[in-house]
Amino acid sequence: HIPVICVDGPTASGKGTLASQLAQTLGYHYLDSGALYRITGLAARRAGLALDTAHEQSIARLAATLPVRFEGERVILGGEDVSEAIRSEAAGMDASQVSALPSVRSALVELQQSFRRLPGLVADGRDMGTVIFPDAPLKVFLTASAARRAERRHKQLISKGIPAKIDVLRADLEARDARDTQRAVAPLKPAQDALLLDNSDQGIAESVAQVLGWWED
Ligand code: C5P
Repeated sequence: HIPVICVDGPTASGKGTLASQLAQTLGYHYLDSGALYRITGLAARRAGLALDTAHEQSIARLAATLPVRFEGERVILGGEDVSEAIRSEAAGMDASQVSALPSVRSALVELQQSFRRLPGLVADGRDMGTVIFPDAPLKVFLTASAARRAERRHKQLISKGIPAKIDVLRADLEARDARDTQRAVAPLKPAQDALLLDNSDQGIAESVAQVLGWWED
């Protein structure tokens, strides 16, 4: 059986950094499932679709046939590099909206599961442990306080020269978490067998070491 480590948790908890470093250390593949929802949101916007239930089937069709490729850190949609376009706060909100549509979620299940290849996979998202890889031997639910998450996102944006206000960021990420937690399908919550990791007062190296310790047990 091909091993999978799931890293789920709220917005800006550091899942992406933790998951990709774990993948690198173990020589495993990496799935950034949030990117798939972000790309779906972008594709729907470009098709001129409102991101609501009235357009659920059309958006699900887009999701099922996304011409997407991952090239290292880059995300390619139909030949165009959309790596930057999908990273904005607005793209995150759009992703959260399309991800609440059940048909869109189902349309992306197989694509996500196809990332499970030898020698193993580290998968990051909201429902990796609860829905996509329920049989995964290690599920981590990563959290940090909203204040700390807003601070980190702020630092990240400022370092890229993108102006941002910390209180606006915090309000945005709390709104996104509320929608992700309250939706009817695959709501954000720890799997029953998930191990909780709060990294509010932890550096990335410490978090990586903690999870590798769990993995070796
Ligand atoms: O992780 P990231 O911030 O890129 O995810 C963007 C949005 O996509 C999340 O706010 C969430 O609504 C949705 N998502 C999801 N299920 C996943 C990954 C992301 O619903 N497995």
